[in-house]
Amino acid sequence: MSRDPATGQAPFRKMQNRSQTITLVGAGLTGPLLGISLAQRGFRVQIFERRPDMRLIRSSAGRSINLAVSTRGIHALREAGLWDQMSRIIIPMKGRMMHSLTGDLTFQPYGQNDTEVINSISRADLNVALMNAAEAQGVTIHFGERCIGMDWTTGGARFRNEETGRESTIASEVVIGTDGSASALRLDMQKLGRLNFSQDNLDYGYKELTIAAGPDGKHLLESHALHIWPRGSYMLIALPNIDGTFACILFLPFEGRESFATLDTSEKALHFFTERFADAVPLMPQLQESYSSNPTGSMVTVKCAPWRVDGKVLLLGDAAHAIVPFFGQGMNCAFEDCTVFLELLDRHGPNWPTLFQEFEAARKHNTDCIADLALENFVEMRDRVADPRFLFRKKVELALEAKYPQRFVPKYAMVTFHRVPYSVALSRGKIQDRLLAELCDSIARIEDLDWKKADSLIHRDLTPLETL
Ligand SMILES: Cc1cc2nc3c(=O)[nH]c(=O)nc-3n(C[C@H](O)[C@H](O)[C@H](O)COP(=O)(O)OP(=O)(O)OC[C@H]3O[C@@H](n4cnc5c(N)ncnc54)[C@H](O)[C@@H]3O)c2cc1C
Repeated sequence: MSRDPATGQAPFRKMQNRSQTITLVGAGLTGPLLGISLAQRGFRVQIFERRPDMRLIRSSAGRSINLAVSTRGIHALREAGLWDQMSRIIIPMKGRMMHSLTGDLTFQPYGQNDTEVINSISRADLNVALMNAAEAQGVTIHFGERCIGMDWTTGGARFRNEETGRESTIASEVVIGTDGSASALRLDMQKLGRLNFSQDNLDYGYKELTIAAGPDGKHLLESHALHIWPRGSYMLIALPNIDGTFACILFLPFEGRESFATLDTSEKALHFFTERFADAVPLMPQLQESYSSNPTGSMVTVKCAPWRVDGKVLLLGDAAHAIVPFFGQGMNCAFEDCTVFLELLDRHGPNWPTLFQEFEAARKHNTDCIADLALENFVEMRDRVADPRFLFRKKVELALEAKYPQRFVPKYAMVTFHRVPYSVALSRGKIQDRLLAELCDSIARIEDLDWKKADSLIHRDLTPLETL
């Protein structure tokens, strides 16, 4: 079967599903995307979201940051027929632009060419576009309804209206928790006593700040790059917005000598920025005000299992596997959950117990792996990108990939530009790190690379990668 030429969307079997209602908890990024695809397949979909409708009340509440969308997320959006529309509100970022203490700039490309980019998008704009598309597909979104758990005897999901306090129990065939890292549904599943659960809070927080647009609405820094001010134990990053501004995030320890605890006034923050991120300060006229008024966010890795209760309840996205944001994969991974879920649905039909079981079997190990990769990447971003030896190895990686595109694909590329399972990216990444160390440790110039040795190591240790 061929794709729809107008939307690029894959065809799917429209099932006789009108009699089945699916309840989704949470209209963040994943709920509406999954809702769209389920409605396209003929299900009646209702989403319950605890916040008010952000299209009517723009509440930033620390969630106005930009996100990097890459191949896995793009694939899911394309499958839902939404990527063409989204691609109008993104800015491609071709690499990292590192800012040294003295303001020197070093550019490190992410991939081999201009198609291997990550795409900056405003979380709020993406969320609004997804909700609009869901409603256009017939999905009903109920706002101001907080999930307070399940009625496990009837299988109904329980909600409390945030304004009136009225409680209701909503019946449906299945309930899917897309209610994020602090999932209420997951909390209620824990009470059943079968859920294994771990939560690791990072001892770093983050704060959103902004780089202003130039007087003519132009970007004041290179717009097709993700900017990083790596400073060892902390960092500032900036992602471009289509209005000429940059959304910045300061990642800093909660406690310690240079931390949110010690930078407890906007004057101290300004002094710190002037010393540590000097070239950014003139671009941030609202720095002091934003530093004081914006909340300090926290970051968490959540691992749990099982993600399901019989064929009735399933967790998906951050509710099942929240990760720290340093590989730019949380949403991409959650969107890939949707891809896998829908492939299984198209294969099995709404045989929910089998579907939920196979979904978890396909995803659990992979989501554990991206959680580990994301933690690893934090050290790379805040510290190693400032190290010339590290940048040299990155150059060698790209050269090896150019010569052996089937066998040597850098870990970053496997995660970001391919759809190979995250577990494969993790395990091949370890082998490649070892090979790189062997090839690079005694040389300082790419011209001195021993290609004969590279050829034999790569053919010995790396089979051709099956990319999707
Ligand atoms: C600083 C930062 C930067 C990030 N950058 C990236 C990036 O560049 N790329 C990337 O792929 N990912 C990134 N992420 C991760 C990404 O934001 C998440 O993985 C993604 O939002 C998960 O989507 P979700 O739908 O599962 O959860 P969410 O988007 O968090 O949505 C959950 C929804 O459920 C609602 N809800 C919560 N509790 C209830 C309840 N009891 N009842 C009803 N509704 C409820 C919430 O209000 C929310 O609307 C970043 C995260 C952070 C913190």
